[in-house]
Amino acid sequence: MIEIRSRKREEIIDITDRVKELVKGKNGLVVVYSPHTTTAVIINEAESGLLQDIISKINELVPKGAGYLHDRIDDNADSHIKASLFGNSVVIPVEDGRLMLGTWQRILFLEFDGPRTRRVFVKIYETKKD
Ligand code: ZN
Repeated sequence: MIEIRSRKREEIIDITDRVKELVKGKNGLVVVYSPHTTTAVIINEAESGLLQDIISKINELVPKGAGYLHDRIDDNADSHIKASLFGNSVVIPVEDGRLMLGTWQRILFLEFDGPRTRRVFVKIYETKKD
């Protein structure tokens, strides 16, 4: 399990190195899973301009307070919609303790209703080495 403290309402946090620590010496598949309804986990490039572009575009597509029914309850319908568009888990092959990510791929945690303390589960399904 990884604990994450977000600092903004919308924020993208690179958790690749923290997942790497947990798969040392393993072979198999790792599942990185967020149990929250207003966050997401994706794999993409962590270039700072791109991270800002992702947040800008998702805010443009799903603006806050656009007459959503759920806002009658806790005023964060946009956060739930954003999270549901991205999904809440990724699966990555692991070989000899290495995450089999492409050169530019990173594991990114997406916060859409921060700042908060969040948990992400990292579960390893071990298999024999290929
Ligand atoms: Zn809500």
